Parts: sequence; C-alpha cells; structure tokens
Amino acid sequence: MTQPHTLTAGIAVDNPATGAVIDHVEEASAADVAQAVARARRAQHGWARLSPRARARLFARARLWLLSHRQEVVDTIVAENGKAAEDAIVEVVYGVTAFAYWAKKAPRLLGNARVRTLSPLVLGRRMYTRRVPVGVVGIIGPWNNPLINSFGDAIPALAAGNAVVLKPSEYTPMTALLMEKMTRECGWPDGVFQVVTGAGETGRALVDTADFIMFTGSTKTGRAVAARAGERLVPCSLELGGKDALIVLADANIERAVNLAVHGALVNGGQMCTSVERVYVEAAVYDAFVNRLREQFAQVADVGAMTFPPQLSTVTEHVDDAARRGARVLHGGHAGAGPGRFFEPTLLVDVDHSMACMREETFGPTLPVMKVANAEEAVRLANDSPYGLQATIAGSDTGRARRLAEQLEVGCVTINDVQSNYMALGLPMGGWKESGLGVRHGAEGIRKYTKLQAVSVNRFPLSRDLHMLPFNPANYRFILNLVKAIHGRRPFFGKKGTR
Ligand code: NDP
Repeated sequence: MTQPHTLTAGIAVDNPATGAVIDHVEEASAADVAQAVARARRAQHGWARLSPRARARLFARARLWLLSHRQEVVDTIVAENGKAAEDAIVEVVYGVTAFAYWAKKAPRLLGNARVRTLSPLVLGRRMYTRRVPVGVVGIIGPWNNPLINSFGDAIPALAAGNAVVLKPSEYTPMTALLMEKMTRECGWPDGVFQVVTGAGETGRALVDTADFIMFTGSTKTGRAVAARAGERLVPCSLELGGKDALIVLADANIERAVNLAVHGALVNGGQMCTSVERVYVEAAVYDAFVNRLREQFAQVADVGAMTFPPQLSTVTEHVDDAARRGARVLHGGHAGAGPGRFFEPTLLVDVDHSMACMREETFGPTLPVMKVANAEEAVRLANDSPYGLQATIAGSDTGRARRLAEQLEVGCVTINDVQSNYMALGLPMGGWKESGLGVRHGAEGIRKYTKLQAVSVNRFPLSRDLHMLPFNPANYRFILNLVKAIHGRRPFFGKKGTR
C-alpha cells in the first residue's frame, strides 16, 4: 500500500529517544488488507515465472540501492526505533548480505530433488520432488529490528517466487515503507512487495487472508496467530520470545566472557529475542567475572532507548521484584527521567529462579548474574525455562563446551560468541519450546515458503503390476521373497557394535 508520509492523522510514530512524533501512518482496515493480498496474488504469478536470474538482477538493484541510500535507511531506523546508529548499520549490512545470499542460494535450495526408494513395489520409477511458491506470504514484523526482522524475512520469501505483504510493527513502520519505496525505485513489478500499516486488526486481517504467515513477536500473540493459521490450514512460522542464558565456565577467557555479556545484554537496549537475559557463572571465576562486568557496565554508552512504551514498566517491575526478593543492584536500576524512554543498564546479582528476571522475558538492558557450583548446575538452570531460543557458552575447552551444548534445550547455541549466528544466513535460527515454530535462515528458512510436489514417473509401464487387482497369491509370495532378499538380513553394526 503506497502512502505519502504527510499524514497528520492515523497512527503516530514517535522517536523513542526524544519522545517527538516523527510521522503518522494510516491504519489499514481488513478491506485494505484483502485488497493488498488480492493485488499480491495477481502479481505473484508473473513473479514466479521470472527466471531466478531475472529475480537476482532485481535483487542486485535493491542491494545497490541499500548501499547508496544507507544513511537514509540508518536515519529512518534510528528515528523510529531509538537504537544507536552503529546498530542500525548492522541492519543495512544484513539486508545487503541477504539479497546477495538468497539470490545465489535459492536456485540450488529450491531445485528438483531426485528420490530413491527401497520398496520393491515401485522399482524402476523415476521420482523427484519439486518446490512451488506458497503464493502470498504475510509477514508480521516486530519493532526491535525494523529492517532485519520484518523486511529481512521478505527476501527469502520473494527469492522463492512469492509475493509479500508486510505488516510492520505500528511502532516502527517507517523503515518498511522506505523498503517499499526502494522496490519501486528499483523497478520491481507492481504488487510483488507491499506494506500495510496498522496494529492488531490489520495483523489479524493479514492472518485471515495470506497463504503463509511469518510472525515475529510475543509468545502470547504467536499462539493466537498459530491458532488462526490452524483453522485456515495455512502454514506459519513463529519467532517468539526468549530467555537466553550465558554460561561462563571456569576456564573461560574472562575478558571475552564479560564482553559477550555486556554486548549480548545491552545492544539495542536489550530488546532482542536473542538478548542475553541471564548469566550462570562457575563459582571459581564468579568474583573475577562480576568485578570486571561491573567496571564495564559503568563505562558502556550507546544503549538504545525503549522502543515499545509498555516495555519500560516490564523492565522496572522485573528489577523491583528482584530487589524485593533479595537481589543486589550493582549498577543502574532505574528508568531515565525523560523525555525519551530510557532505562539504565542494570546489573543484578544474588538472584535466583524465584525472581521474574530469571524466568520471564525482560526485553530490556538488564543482566541478572547467578553463581553456580558447576557446569551441570548451569545447564540444569538454563533449561529451567519455558523458552528455548538461544544460549551461549564461554569456555576455552571447546570440546567440553560442545558436549554441554548438546544438553541445552534451545534451537541455537553459540560458543565464545554472542548473537553472531544471526548473521550466518546458512545457519538455521529458530526456537524450541515456547520460543517458536520453524526457523528462519538455512535451507529450511527458504524451503518453508514453498509447497512440495512429489512426482513419480513409471518409465516402463507394464499392462499390469504384480500387486494390482485382481490379487494373485503367487505374486504376493514373490513380492515377500523379494523383500526378504533385500531387507531380511540382520543389521550390520560393525566390529564394536557401532554403526
Ligand atoms: P505482540 O506479539 O503482542 O504483537 C505484535 C503485532 O501483532 C502487533 O502489531 C499486534 O497488534 C499484532 N497482533 C495482535 N494480535 C494479533 C493477532 N491475533 N493476529 C495478528 N496480529 C496480531 O508484540 P508487541 O509488539 O506488543 O510486544 C510485546 C512483547 O513481545 C514484548 O514485550 C516482547 O517481550 C515481545 N517481543 C518479541 C520480539 C521478538 O523478536 N521475538 C520482538 C518484539 C516483541 P497490537 O499492538 O494491536 O496488539
């Protein structure tokens, strides 16, 4: 939906760092959304028929546009989200890389795949799968990363031959509108990528009409989206909340572990689904880690503003609850005086799992740190959560860290790194438990936007197959003997009983 940025009514978009209203966007009705989806459906047929090379050329134009307009994109993200400019640059880098990555990989990841079978009933058939775009992908994006998490999901969907209708967060719609303008300036076909602005009603209308829903946001709304998608029998992919743990092992490089904690907890004001939300430190290095962490918290600058107004109360409640239950605040602890929405970087110790800050998603610049007897206790506590998005382990013995990673109930683990996996587009990223369904990135991150068609070709058709009606017992004895000959032997497990 194209709209000039001169509205004075509709949804007001403010700058979280200053409180000033920067623009207004319209609230798309259910009829507007249905119209956009119908337009997308018409455009999708031509888009899907374009060769991958032709789509790659349009992606290349967009990639170059992003680079040449990077300052405008960064300014737009910063103005509506309140994050530091450096953090917005990361979003531009992601967008540029994603256009290059999906243009290059889509043909191979979506190509026909030959299938072989062990069944004697279909010997000699040529079988393969082919992938067909789902049609119109509806994306509902969050406010924490207005380009990465919203438009970023559109790129593989488009690379797979779908049209996209994106509903950005009502708090940060300007970047998505700028991306829509980009596609026009790059000569993309009309209707292939559209933006509808609005809140819950607009989102519900999109879930009611699109052929696939990609949702990023809270677990509560994710459940409602999945329920509606289930009623309509359309697929959905959900990237929801997290309560990511950092485990600091006794052999960790403490300076790096501290930097992982500071960056992981405070970048973008801690408003990342992959933020480090809690730390477990082996007792032997606890004092050294906490002392250095406290020094670093005192020095850190460029922590973003709180984009989503109610988030300030959530963060305040979690800090107050922890303090009431016996936690010590080693740094920060309060909301800023305004006019912007800021919360001080806050370091909490003497915390335990009775406190909301260790169990519920805080989504703010806070870091509770807990001493544990050993790595086993750290793993047990890390798994004591309804969420299962990511975890980080800091430790020099990477073999041991990998063994511990295998015990963690999360979709992604980084060892001696934090959040960097998100930039590796070949690596799937998605949550277990209440953190989501499905993944973005990796082969599944683009294949999910397709329907699978299975084709079986009998190249040497006889008049009648052995198993066909009318049944002949002799044919079935022959079939059974064939199965016994092929599959009737004991399994081979090698010399030591291993496969
Ligand atoms: P929500 O998940 O609650 O909402 C996301 C968007 O979906 C909003 O525009 C919302 O509209 C809309 N919506 C509400 N109900 C439906 C529905 N049934 N179908 C379709 N769309 C719907 O996120 P919020 O932005 O309100 O943030 C709440 C919490 O979510 C945060 O405090 C944070 O914990 C978490 N969050 C997680 C993110 C992540 O990256 N995983 C990103 C952002 C937030 P409306 O505002 O009218 O309800």
